[in-house]
Amino acid sequence: MYSLYLHIPFCRHRCAYCDFNTYAGLETLIPDYVTALQRELRFLGEQADYPAVGTVFLGGGTPSLLPLTALDSLFRTLRASFALLSEAEITLEANPGTVDFPYLRGLRALGVNRLSFGVQSANPGELRLLERIHDYPQAIQAVTWARQAGFDNLNLDLIFGLPYQRLEDWQRSLELALGLSPEHLALYALTLEHGTPMQHWVARGLLPAPDPDLAAEMYEWAAERLSQAGYVQYEISNWARRESYACRHNLTYWRSAPYLGLGAGAHGYVPGLRTVVVRAPQAYIRRMEAFAGVSLAFPRTPATIEAHPLTVQEEMGEYMMMGLRLTQEGVLADAFQQRFGVPLETVYGEQIAHLTALGLLEWTSNQALRLTPGAYLLGNQVFMAFV
Ligand code: SF4
Repeated sequence: MYSLYLHIPFCRHRCAYCDFNTYAGLETLIPDYVTALQRELRFLGEQADYPAVGTVFLGGGTPSLLPLTALDSLFRTLRASFALLSEAEITLEANPGTVDFPYLRGLRALGVNRLSFGVQSANPGELRLLERIHDYPQAIQAVTWARQAGFDNLNLDLIFGLPYQRLEDWQRSLELALGLSPEHLALYALTLEHGTPMQHWVARGLLPAPDPDLAAEMYEWAAERLSQAGYVQYEISNWARRESYACRHNLTYWRSAPYLGLGAGAHGYVPGLRTVVVRAPQAYIRRMEAFAGVSLAFPRTPATIEAHPLTVQEEMGEYMMMGLRLTQEGVLADAFQQRFGVPLETVYGEQIAHLTALGLLEWTSNQALRLTPGAYLLGNQVFMAFV
């Protein structure tokens, strides 16, 4: 069983904080890009002999820039190349500034059953600072249309820890977002990514640097508020109104289950191997145009530029790093042993003893190792001990 990630590297405008593999002003490439994705879907489907797929995630970039006709072709190819389970979770990331009701109704008719809206903030000044193309009323409108179109599984992304943002600004954004009753919320602290305009502004003193203590306070307030509102925090940055609304696609990553990454710059993973697709959309299109007769071992495609074999040690480290992000589930000792044939404590006994003594990790009654709530913000330090 696989999960499929399809990367759509187009945006109307590049937001000031974004370092994703996405490009503004390349929308004329969309038709050729979709054709290339269809070729990659067929290539992988044939190689693996029509494998089963449980989740599909169209991420970006801005997948909601793809016209419905293009998505229709893409899904037809996907269903012809893979055994898409009838209950598959199919998520599309949407920018609230790019959708209208007919579009959302069309998505639902194509089988998309989960939308992830990049709302980010309810504060006009913050949205301008981030250089988002939408305003908050557009986000409300997008959610309303999505409900009318029949979507009953919506995620909203919000960002905190912005320059100038006060605790009360963040509280207001989160309260307004809660008023939209999303099934899922993903809350991210702003990070100043190298090479982004925002990082330059801060480096040149044009913008104050985000305050990490205040960001921590915002995070802790949000965790408490969402718990009061009945949301389950199942991952460091992710909350679901019920466990059944946890993002099944992202759970694939956190559980180190296999996924195929298609499209420019996408990463994939099957046990023992990590793959990376060529980054530039033009190069991706070219590579997928000229592969007649090429035979490659699964899951490589003509667009793969890296297929990195993983040592058992690397796989174990990744398994811990990803699994410990799951704040409830953590890493089950039994599952670890089943997967690697060796007890968790034999491999990491020392690290576990040290981190539990520091109060950063704990054992649950069913022998799962997980972060303590106080360690959610120190995740990276804990993960380092396992790699
Ligand atoms: S819409 Fe999302 S992917 Fe596109 S530039 Fe903005 S943050 Fe990046």
